[in-house]
Amino acid sequence: MARKIRSGDDVLRVIPPPGAPAILPKEGEDNILITSALPYCNNVPHLGNIIGSTLSADVFSRYNRTRNRTTLYICGTDEYGTATETQALKERITPRELCDKYYPLHKETYEWFDIGFDYFGRTSTPLHTEISQSIFSNLGKNGFLARQEKEQTYCEGCPKFLADRYVEGICPHCGYEDARGDQCDGCSRTLDAIELIKPRCLVDKSHVVTTKMSAHMYVKLDAIQPRTEEWIKHSWKVGKWSPNAVINAEGIIIDPRLRGGLIPAPLTRDLTWGVPIPPQYETEEHGMKGKVLYVWFDAPIGYPSITANYTPEWRQWWFNPKNVRLYQFMGKDNVYFHTVYFPSILLADGRDWTKLHHLSTTEYLNYEGGKFSKSKNRGVFGPAAKETGIPASVWRYYLLSTRPETSDAMFSWADCIAANNNVLLNNFGNFVNRALKFVASQYDSVIPDGGDEAGPLSPNDEHDAEFISTVNGLLRDYIDAMEAVKLRLGLQTVMLISMRGNNYLQSSGLNKALMASNPRRCAQVVSRAVNLIYVLSALVYPFMPATSDSILEQLNAPARVVPEVFSADILPGHTIGKPEHLFKKIEESKVEELQRRFAGEEDKKEIETDPTKATPGAKGKKGAKKAPAQPTVDPNVPKTPEILALEAKISEQGQVVRGLKGQTPKTPELEAQIKDAVDVLKRLKGELETLLQA
Ligand SMILES: [Zn+2]
Ligand SMILES: [Zn+2]
Repeated sequence: MARKIRSGDDVLRVIPPPGAPAILPKEGEDNILITSALPYCNNVPHLGNIIGSTLSADVFSRYNRTRNRTTLYICGTDEYGTATETQALKERITPRELCDKYYPLHKETYEWFDIGFDYFGRTSTPLHTEISQSIFSNLGKNGFLARQEKEQTYCEGCPKFLADRYVEGICPHCGYEDARGDQCDGCSRTLDAIELIKPRCLVDKSHVVTTKMSAHMYVKLDAIQPRTEEWIKHSWKVGKWSPNAVINAEGIIIDPRLRGGLIPAPLTRDLTWGVPIPPQYETEEHGMKGKVLYVWFDAPIGYPSITANYTPEWRQWWFNPKNVRLYQFMGKDNVYFHTVYFPSILLADGRDWTKLHHLSTTEYLNYEGGKFSKSKNRGVFGPAAKETGIPASVWRYYLLSTRPETSDAMFSWADCIAANNNVLLNNFGNFVNRALKFVASQYDSVIPDGGDEAGPLSPNDEHDAEFISTVNGLLRDYIDAMEAVKLRLGLQTVMLISMRGNNYLQSSGLNKALMASNPRRCAQVVSRAVNLIYVLSALVYPFMPATSDSILEQLNAPARVVPEVFSADILPGHTIGKPEHLFKKIEESKVEELQRRFAGEEDKKEIETDPTKATPGAKGKKGAKKAPAQPTVDPNVPKTPEILALEAKISEQGQVVRGLKGQTPKTPELEAQIKDAVDVLKRLKGELETLLQA
């Protein structure tokens, strides 16, 4: 098959796909380092974890590859800590065995979702120990460590100090009988295990539990605070952070811990499963023999240590702030650790670390009117996603189109299946298939000569000036959204572009009659539609890589970059591949089946006794409110691109307003911001009304 594709840096993709061997940053270029929060290794991931960080980070990593930027995406399992020890105890295996059991489950799940890490490692490695210990030692050398003696719960029977999770007792505040060592489920207060009344050892309730003094190393966060704040105020601006729990939209630090003044934080614990304290601290004088480093200290060090397991040249990424921009993806509960705690540690370490450039956080994804619950088996957990028969691309599309960017989102089977049938199949898939089938059947698969020059299409075009300028406007919107890590808006824009393509085929009257009456114009329409499909292959790649691959195969074209403007890159005489449908219809009857299957133990019983509960729309037992419907796109309703673009903006602005309203405390600054955001929303809605009436 003859290939005639315009070549050049502005067309073809040269950066390798994820997983290629040792990618290293290039001096003087824009190098992108991406991390996703490290999942705990004591459980399988659920969809909330996936959308919260690993999938979102994957989209951003792939997007940067479509801009030909050297990109490295690192993740892995966070293996140390009491959570692992406790779960291992429950499963009657060692912590190491537990991690060896769950690590592959994580890896397989992410692979199935097409999440392309360059390297998916683990924290229980010798290099992790080495790097964690070196940072700890530097904190000591630089005078940021302090030794404190602390009273701790001790079990005479075990015999050892009991970590918070090994001890239960009566809450001193509310009298709740089964308060845990770190928190009371009765009154939600955080506790120190020594406060518990009548403490019990969870290993064996007959053991006698007392308290004993134990020495620990603390990091003097208070001594680092001025430098941390200076760093936050600088990075917030440079990295264009969204307002979050630590700093608001005006650049005012709002984290209560920083406002009240940081206090020294413990760095060591009396556990066995963890990074051992550096040997020089195990002397008589320090009294730290057998202690391990706190998991909150060692977990974020997993980012560089996992990179070190990927390449011995890891320092080129992690000690290179001049040439590397670090993007970190996480759930909202992790913001403090990535913006305050870990940067403080790196500042105190004293070396020239690559520190956070931009953070992207998500709110929570809930499930069918309630919450995901592993204990009740409610919702979809890791490996089960593939058993639904819904392809990974569709999963990715649906999760990303509901990405909880500024407020919580709700997973719903009905919405998921509607997204496949209404958006992917009827809009996106239809455009690609209609154009390519026409080329195959009417032109014997060879692109006809539409008279366009290779390269950017003229904005003063005789027939299609409006079409070309709309596509260019949407391309700019797409790039702006993706650069700002507004992934959902980026995805909405892709769908607007394919919808514009559908409208174009419709309004140009592409059919056999046009071919007979005006062959030149017909050839032009076909060539422009095929070139728009080629652009779409790059735009959709971050979100649905398998769909992008399939388009490229059907086009018989190599992977390309995201262009700045719409151009003719597939040239006359090029032979395309065989057109195939990108998506298949999913029957709506599947909604009920899937709701039933993933309802979890409690709701399942309810469905058995009350069959109406399983019908679409009848949500979980709490009767929680239905998720706001996603802006699904119906190609049968004639909407101009302006209307569609405005609708996307309104939806985005609505998210901004809801996000701001969800913030506390309600300061006068926040109230003013909310008012401004509502005003913008009202103005956009007014514009839409005017357009709809026109
Ligand atoms: Zn005990
Ligand atoms: Zn309590």
